[in-house]
Amino acid sequence: MLLVERRSGSSLFPRAVGQNQRTMELLGFGGIAGDVPTVTSSPATFRVRIAAGLSEPTFHEDVSETAPTDSENLSSAGLGTAGQDKLEPLLRRRAEEFGAELRFDTELVSFSHGDDGVIAVVHGRHDDRTSRVHAQYLVAADGSRSSVRDALGIDRHGPGALSQNVSVIFDADLGDLVEPQRPTLHVLSKVDGVFITVDHAIDRHLLSVGYDPGDGQSPADFTRERCIELIRMITELPDLEPEIRAVRPWEMAAAVADRFRVGRVLLAGDAAKVTPPSGGFGGNTAIGDGYDLAWKLAAVLDSTAGPGLLDTYDAERRPIADMVVAEALRLLRGRRPAAPDEDTDVEQVSDRQRAIELALGFRYRSSAVLIACIGLPRVQLP
Ligand SMILES: Cc1cc2nc3c(=O)[nH]c(=O)nc-3n(C[C@H](O)[C@H](O)[C@H](O)COP(=O)(O)OP(=O)(O)OC[C@H]3O[C@@H](n4cnc5c(N)ncnc54)[C@H](O)[C@@H]3O)c2cc1C
Repeated sequence: MLLVERRSGSSLFPRAVGQNQRTMELLGFGGIAGDVPTVTSSPATFRVRIAAGLSEPTFHEDVSETAPTDSENLSSAGLGTAGQDKLEPLLRRRAEEFGAELRFDTELVSFSHGDDGVIAVVHGRHDDRTSRVHAQYLVAADGSRSSVRDALGIDRHGPGALSQNVSVIFDADLGDLVEPQRPTLHVLSKVDGVFITVDHAIDRHLLSVGYDPGDGQSPADFTRERCIELIRMITELPDLEPEIRAVRPWEMAAAVADRFRVGRVLLAGDAAKVTPPSGGFGGNTAIGDGYDLAWKLAAVLDSTAGPGLLDTYDAERRPIADMVVAEALRLLRGRRPAAPDEDTDVEQVSDRQRAIELALGFRYRSSAVLIACIGLPRVQLP
């Protein structure tokens, strides 16, 4: 297996923080679940807090708890807490142990595909060389703006772009403004953004704020000075000297590809479906795509299954993509600052329940799943 990645390595940005129990089960099959940090306290809690700024009164708070009576009875796997910056190196090491070749600083420039295979044209930045790679299949895990998906002419459905944002990773001692024992996503109306501590041990935080291209704003406006100004605004610490580590634009979008497969090319992760970060589904379902695809490709390549098995990938994963996008949009709508007397408690239990159902309660309906058990005695469940 060959992977090409145009970046030089993994990014500093944690993005997909948190692995649900299904993801941890899948990482367990891959032999790396033991290396992923998990929540140790029980019940585990994660708080979404809506306020104007970090030190200002809370408009609304939503605490999700994994009570022993629900998710722990459904899976023995724990909840992972790794960000993508921590998980990617683990996946990379495991892939290399399995014999995969990973080429960083290398871009997929173009490809052609037919009945016999795929020819990919790749360019390595380090040696400025362009080469052709012959492969049986091409998996496009090239992100939301997938050039492979575009080249295949696959459309997407859903609302599309929702907002333009810039994420800032910074180091600063924020004292009592952050609580190491209480993982919290702060939704801050003062800057139209979100704040989360990425790593308490090194006082590393992330602030993500929206900007409006319609008003002539662009990522170039987020200079070091502007980022410091925003951090001082949310902390109300006018003399704070944060160390800006990285600044990166990203688009919040909700869209699902109309097809996950064309011939020998298959879409996975954000290339197949992009969802707002609310609910933390994007990275988790990307790993689900990867797992579904990996065992099917392995079975087809070692001839234990015919290529028709690959058709079930779309049938199994696309309905999940539609479900998580719908749920992420619903959660996103709930993250606006609510009026102090607004009753939002009604949704709290069902938010958690829905997340568990999406992680552990979905069913695949495809020709790869044999449902009829003709002749078997009926079992009376307790
Ligand atoms: C701010 C933010 C917060 C998020 N929070 C969460 C969360 O809490 N939980 C969660 O589960 N998910 C979260 N997500 C979503 C999650 O990050 C994505 O779903 C996940 O990164 C998808 O992985 P991917 O590999 O499909 O795409 P990406 O991580 O985007 O990777 C695609 C890669 O392809 C490379 N590439 C693109 N084109 C080429 C080319 N032509 N040649 C070579 N390389 C190429 C890119 O350089 C990139 O590294 C969040 C996303 C954002 C933006």
